[in-house]
Amino acid sequence: MANIAEMPEGYGGEGFFATSLSKAVGIARANSIWPLPFATSCCGIEFMATMGTNYDLARFGMERLSFSPRQADLLMVMGTIAKKMGPILRQVYIQMAEPKWVIAVGACASSGGIFDTYSVLQGIDKVIPVDVYVPGCPPRPEQIIDGVMKIQELVKNEPLRRRYSPEYQHLLAKYQIELD
Ligand code: SF4
Repeated sequence: MANIAEMPEGYGGEGFFATSLSKAVGIARANSIWPLPFATSCCGIEFMATMGTNYDLARFGMERLSFSPRQADLLMVMGTIAKKMGPILRQVYIQMAEPKWVIAVGACASSGGIFDTYSVLQGIDKVIPVDVYVPGCPPRPEQIIDGVMKIQELVKNEPLRRRYSPEYQHLLAKYQIELD
C-alpha cells in the first residue's frame, strides 16, 4: 500500500491551510530522498532485498538510487569498510551537496562488527558523521526500512538553518570537513 505523506502541523479552516516554509520543505525532502548505496559486502545484499518488490523502498519515494554523490542526499553505508577505503568513503561524503544524511547499515559499518582486525575501520563514524545506526549482522530489510524511516523523521523536522548552525559546523570541524 502506498505510504501517503501526512500533512505537517499548521492551521486549517474552510478552504485554507497554512504551515511554515520549514515544515513544507521538510515534508518534501523527507519523501523524495535520493540514496547513494555504498555497499561493500553482505549487508548490501539485504539492501538489494529492501529494494525488491516484497519490501519496495519506492514506497518512501526512494526508488531513484544515485551512484553519483552530486545527485544524492542519503549515504547508505552497508558492509565492511577497510581502512584503505576510509578516505574514499570520506571523499564521496564530501562530494555530496548539503543537506545530506548518513545511515550506517549493520554491525560492520557501525562498529567494524566481528572484524576487530588491523585492516578494518572500526565504524564509519571514525571518518564521517553518522545520523542513524542500524544494528544487525546482517540487519533484515525491515530493520533497514526502520533506519530509513528514522532518517525521514530527522529530515522532516530539521530546521532549514541547521546546516549553518555553530553546532553543525563544530561537528564537521571535528572531521576536518569544511561546509561548501
Ligand atoms: S554486519 Fe555482518 S552481514 Fe553486514 S557486512 Fe558485516 S559481516 Fe556482513
